[in-house]
Amino acid sequence: MRTSGGRVGNDRDQFFAESIFHLVREKYTELTDSCFSTSHARHKVLAGIIMTRGFDLRSAQVVSLATGTKCLDLDNVSDRNSTLSDCHAEVVCRRALIRFLYAQLELLLCKSAEGEEQSIFVPNKGGCCDGGGDGLRLRDGVLFHMYVSSSPCGDARLNCPYETTATYPSRRFRCHLRVKVNGGEGTLPVTARRANQKQDGKPLVTMSCTDKMAKWSVVGLQGALLSHLVEPVYLHSLTVGTLSHTGHLGRALTRRLAPVKHLPFPYRRRQLLLSCLSSSEVRPAGKAPNVSVNWSSGDGGLEEISTVTGRAKDSGTPSQLCRSSLFARWQRLQQQLNGQISGAEAIMGTYCGSKMAAGRYQRALQQFIGALQVGGLGTWLRKPPQLGHLNISV
Ligand SMILES: [Zn+2]
Repeated sequence: MRTSGGRVGNDRDQFFAESIFHLVREKYTELTDSCFSTSHARHKVLAGIIMTRGFDLRSAQVVSLATGTKCLDLDNVSDRNSTLSDCHAEVVCRRALIRFLYAQLELLLCKSAEGEEQSIFVPNKGGCCDGGGDGLRLRDGVLFHMYVSSSPCGDARLNCPYETTATYPSRRFRCHLRVKVNGGEGTLPVTARRANQKQDGKPLVTMSCTDKMAKWSVVGLQGALLSHLVEPVYLHSLTVGTLSHTGHLGRALTRRLAPVKHLPFPYRRRQLLLSCLSSSEVRPAGKAPNVSVNWSSGDGGLEEISTVTGRAKDSGTPSQLCRSSLFARWQRLQQQLNGQISGAEAIMGTYCGSKMAAGRYQRALQQFIGALQVGGLGTWLRKPPQLGHLNISV
């Protein structure tokens, strides 16, 4: 039994973590059993997010899940706004959670007492969102928990006491930010040379899952766009299957972030409750499939994405989670909410402009990036601004 902070014997925490794992696994089995395709059955990593009211497991509900371990070759993607470039399970699962959050905000638009009662969001009297008004916040007691079947790639995966592949060259880059290998699996340490993406002719890259999860524990899961409307939504706990060790995860996801301070209200550095499963499933061996699936609560079935094209596997259409799909939904929602909720004033414009207009979110992100850089962990690589020139009329 291994739980957060090296404590032994905390049966309740361990029971909770095991239950989170079983709920995600059951939902995945249910979804794949009703699906004729077998291409996703060989997944290497499964991630899921569960919502609870307090720690009452009777209220537990799987709200998003995803599989995947691959990242597209970003230099060979022509339309990055319509493709899903980072198909790692944890990252896709967060995007699927955002669709769930949108659905919960849309419940408020029904203007029915029932819709308002059902939504997990409530008006935030006296709050402060990037939209400039009170905005919305999660209902009291609503908590989100993530399960990942294998330790997140990057710093949390490497140098782990349980790591058996001794191929890692040295501990020189311990704690360092890492980037995903384009068009494949695995990660590489960030080097100063690559700090300005594309401007120095280096390939475009995306940050490792460990680093992205560390970022979520500072700026939240909701992303820049939703922070116009809602207070940050944080993960409360993380349960990891194979290749995991709570002390090691705690270093990579929490202690590494100690220098991150002075965050603008209501952002704060959230300490994740970390758990590992007492008996984890074996990570499937062999080649990873070229498919990543995703699902959000309310969907009839799984969406299957080819990790070669970053688009729907069979039809080739853009994913429901790609940048343009989520941006269109955000714009529609904001237009509808305009005038109904303080803080939802329309900010129409480009994708990048709308993200940059989320002032507090951007300041919190800058504090995070700056603190890691000063701490010698490397430079966070942001996508160049021209990728954000996306304007959709709704
Ligand atoms: Zn990953």
